[in-house]
Amino acid sequence: MQRILTRGEIENLDRTRVVRLMLPEPNIFSTRAQRLRDLAPENPIQDYLLLIALLSDAQQHTFEQSWSVPQLNEQQLAQAQAHGMPPFSASSTKRDPVWRDMFSAIIKQLLQQNTLPEAVAHNLAQLNDEIATQPKRIEQQADALLTQELDKIDAARAPFIMAALQVYWRCLMVQLESQQVPAQTPFGICPCCGSQPVSSTVQLGGPKEQLRYATCSLCASQWHIVRVTCTHCEDTKNIAYHTLEAGSQAVKAESCEHCQQYRKILYLDKDQHLDAFADDLASLPLDILMGEAEFYRANNNPYLWQLAE
Ligand SMILES: [Zn+2]
Ligand SMILES: [Zn+2]
Repeated sequence: MQRILTRGEIENLDRTRVVRLMLPEPNIFSTRAQRLRDLAPENPIQDYLLLIALLSDAQQHTFEQSWSVPQLNEQQLAQAQAHGMPPFSASSTKRDPVWRDMFSAIIKQLLQQNTLPEAVAHNLAQLNDEIATQPKRIEQQADALLTQELDKIDAARAPFIMAALQVYWRCLMVQLESQQVPAQTPFGICPCCGSQPVSSTVQLGGPKEQLRYATCSLCASQWHIVRVTCTHCEDTKNIAYHTLEAGSQAVKAESCEHCQQYRKILYLDKDQHLDAFADDLASLPLDILMGEAEFYRANNNPYLWQLAE
């Protein structure tokens, strides 16, 4: 039987020796792809999960090629430290055009798959054309995604553009060490890039046992957030947990009455193979249940954009 830390104990740990930030592993995209394949059978969105598995494979393949990305400089770090801001802020860092080459590489890799649905292949071919002929349009779409301007987002294109941006930020992050990241950054956003979390995960084993970390939807860094706290508005009073009756107890929705938002929370002690992106995506029926209960997703999964209303 595992001992569960009480809230007070967790907060106490927080002040003393909690690892605040975990930078992403080198093989995050291939791990994600594998998890998506494992979750696909009998899932209501099986075909979509398999498509995103192919996309994650293409991300890993592209990440492993050699790219020259802008170097992290002292001034950038000093500024981040002075203002308590993420050093690679997604909304304010100027993107190097190399990210569009990464995007093109991802698309080419995907188009080699002869299992792609025709509509997807057509969409990708069009995107690849636009990268070459109308780069400004692609940049505008990337801006809209990174700043969450939902009315400017094309849901069919968004997962692929996000995939390329994830690879670019993953390449930037290779240079970063966790002690270079400011100790205090605004609540609810990634300390490295300022993006919102995709979900959060309660850890298993070692000093992180039973601590909860949010995973960045862009760069996949993980940062500590005390449990039973709304990951969106930081409220602690009206937090509730929801699961599907027949569903896995390893994935719950953590809702907040204060802001009416929710995000998924994953429990590694219930399933050691959980992945912050894949399991959030595969538990779409839980999102439908939450919608019926009139809670809103704090933000979209980067691989699935629901923009209605
Ligand atoms: Zn991030
Ligand atoms: Zn809240």
